[in-house]
Amino acid sequence: MTSYKELGLVNTKELFKKAVSGGYALPAYNFNNMEQMQAIIMACVETKSPVILQVSSGARKYANQNILKNMARGAVEYAHELGYDIPIVLHLDHGDSFELCKDCIETGFSSVMIDGSHLSYDENVALTKKVCDFAHSQKDYVTVEGELGVLAGVEDDVSSEHSHYTQPAEVIDFVGKTKVDSLAISIGTSHGRAKFKPEQCTRDANGILIPPPLRFDILEEVEKKIPGFPIVLHGSSSVPIEYVHMIEKYGGKLTDSVGIPEEQLRKAAKSAVCKINIDSDGRLAMTALIRKILIEKPDEFDPRKILGPARDELKKLYSHKNKNVLGSAGQA
Ligand SMILES: [Zn+2]
Repeated sequence: MTSYKELGLVNTKELFKKAVSGGYALPAYNFNNMEQMQAIIMACVETKSPVILQVSSGARKYANQNILKNMARGAVEYAHELGYDIPIVLHLDHGDSFELCKDCIETGFSSVMIDGSHLSYDENVALTKKVCDFAHSQKDYVTVEGELGVLAGVEDDVSSEHSHYTQPAEVIDFVGKTKVDSLAISIGTSHGRAKFKPEQCTRDANGILIPPPLRFDILEEVEKKIPGFPIVLHGSSSVPIEYVHMIEKYGGKLTDSVGIPEEQLRKAAKSAVCKINIDSDGRLAMTALIRKILIEKPDEFDPRKILGPARDELKKLYSHKNKNVLGSAGQA
């Protein structure tokens, strides 16, 4: 049993309070290897941003739970070594069972998501409440994110053919009964790098897909029901077209890629949205740079010379997000 405080981590409670009143959102970046973790910490220290390090159950299987725990501890010490102690959260993304959430809490996570959004409403309430009761009763309070509404798209173990928007009428009851600390809602974001089907989009003069706008009307309704309550957006990568083009230039194929425009996320971050999940953009940046190096330097076989430039690009991407999209720069 390891408490997150032993690792130097914090939960989301105070961070969300400040983010809601300050009109910005915390970055929630997924990681499962050293280069990603280093890039996240370098970018967040440089921009003085608090950060949520996210791990999906797939990432936990990939990297090993003990290694991840010690990487989180390493992240805290790395930030300190870089000269600025930013608040760092270790969060389980899309926990699908009480047992997984409990296991993560007992191995040093400071925050967990229990995703019962695929269940019936009553089953979602019961499961989320069970996780909250356990997480909140720990010696060091662990924060819990719940979800209402279903996002479309594919992300590790999460996959759904169809989305349905969050029903604002349900949120007061859900938050009251479960005592969750934050709530992920569905307002048109989606997992993965192809967030919409081409027929849902329009195209600009260059043939690039323009997605339908987020449902800010639903977000406003939710905010009216639970004023100041921390709201979370999943599936919020913007899928930068320059990375898609770079990947395709160097032999990849990512047909019909489309993300959420950064201006819309900036607008959301100014509201009660206080955590924005970004995974696909990091994957794209990393893949783009790896492909470029492998093609441009066919004699290169030192992984450091291949992953190093990818790490530099990731850092650049995360700094940009903190400064220009989330508004979290300067808030640590
Ligand atoms: Zn998600």
